[in-house]
Amino acid sequence: MTEISEIWSKAKKQLSDEISAVSYETWIKPISVLSADDKKITMEVPSPTVRSMLLTRYNSIITDCIENVTSRKYALEVLVANKNRRDYRPVAANTLPENLLNPKYTFETFVVGKNNELAQSAALAAAEQANVYNPLYIYGGSGLGKTHLLQAVGNYYVENYPEKKIIYTTTEKFTYDFVAAIQQKKTFEFKQKYRTADLLLIDDIQFLSDKTQTYEEFFHTFNALYEAGKQMVITSDRLPSDIPHIPERLRTRFQMGLLVDVQPPEFETRMAILKDKIAAENISVDDEVLEYVAHGIRSNVRDLEGAVKRMMAYGAISRTNKISMELAEKALKDIFSLMPKKKLTISSVIDETEKYFNLPSGTLRSKQRTARVTLPRHIAMYISQSMLGASQAKIGREFGGRDHSTVISATKKIESLLSEENPEVKRAITDISENLSRD
Ligand code: ADP
Ligand code: MG
Repeated sequence: MTEISEIWSKAKKQLSDEISAVSYETWIKPISVLSADDKKITMEVPSPTVRSMLLTRYNSIITDCIENVTSRKYALEVLVANKNRRDYRPVAANTLPENLLNPKYTFETFVVGKNNELAQSAALAAAEQANVYNPLYIYGGSGLGKTHLLQAVGNYYVENYPEKKIIYTTTEKFTYDFVAAIQQKKTFEFKQKYRTADLLLIDDIQFLSDKTQTYEEFFHTFNALYEAGKQMVITSDRLPSDIPHIPERLRTRFQMGLLVDVQPPEFETRMAILKDKIAAENISVDDEVLEYVAHGIRSNVRDLEGAVKRMMAYGAISRTNKISMELAEKALKDIFSLMPKKKLTISSVIDETEKYFNLPSGTLRSKQRTARVTLPRHIAMYISQSMLGASQAKIGREFGGRDHSTVISATKKIESLLSEENPEVKRAITDISENLSRD
């Protein structure tokens, strides 16, 4: 036992160098090592959240660090400490039904990518009461996970600090409640309710009514909680400076905290999100189909979820739990046709491909036929055909007046490389298509 605790403390030291301080504090520190045999190490953690986080995100890094210390590979067994408080509910003393958080909106179900990692880690820091950013203000377009992150903070509180009073509310609800309180002469109860929160989560602050009184009340609530050191997390579709009518002093308050944005997910993250959502369902979908969806839907996560739901529904109707390309196309036809079409031209495909391969502008249209030039040219022809649906004759003309048969043989060549899973070609096509679809 002393041996295993020694191993673990060495491994922890390494882990603290490998991962961020916040992650270390949140996920590694709560671990106690119970026992070890020659194959596995058994650990105990205080909550199912920590357990699933360890198993999904930190498993391999923990086993690697242990391997560095012991020169052998151990499996991890993670148990949740039984503290007889498993059946928690977000209904602490003063909470009202509107506080009910969607239990699906947690940090574990939130897929982190470049587009949202800052927002995610700031939210996590707020959740673990690091109290460094107050308020935390998360802003960005619709369907990008703001409400999800906001509620993840709430769900984290519910699970880890069940005694705390959490208020999750939309701005509309706040306004409505306040107006109702005035009418029913219950403003004292209203103030009491909001100003005694330990955590205030306010969704969509851009809808804060421009009624002066509501602003005033919100401002006082904000100050009361701020001075008491209570965490507030706010979401909005825009920066405080872009909310019309907002009084300057409230704007200043928001800017005292941390402003972080969420961006539309890039291709890799869209794939990861799709895989995550599919994994929760009893259905199998080939990567090829997922790529098709991830290419087609770029705007936001809500639409990705919608696509998954449609595929599921079509699967159910066709009594299959394997989604073929054909079925996916059928399921998503309507959605895809609504997607804004970018003004793509053969010319932009050529430019993007030259850029990707670091070729001087004009190379692909030229007569050069060295290997360094022909593969990119074939790829660009292939993309022109598959993404733009341009005719072979037209493609030939744009590529420096080549014959349509040249285009046919180029696309055939690329198709055969793709069917052999050629990684370079696959990567190039994915990246170039991706770059082309950026605004
Ligand atoms: P917003 O509030 O920004 O409009 P939501 O938080 O309501 O967006 O997100 C829309 C849907 O997409 C929700 O069902 C949410 O769970 C899901 N979602 C958004 N971002 C992610 C993500 N990074 N990982 C997993 N699901 C996500
Ligand atoms: Mg929202």
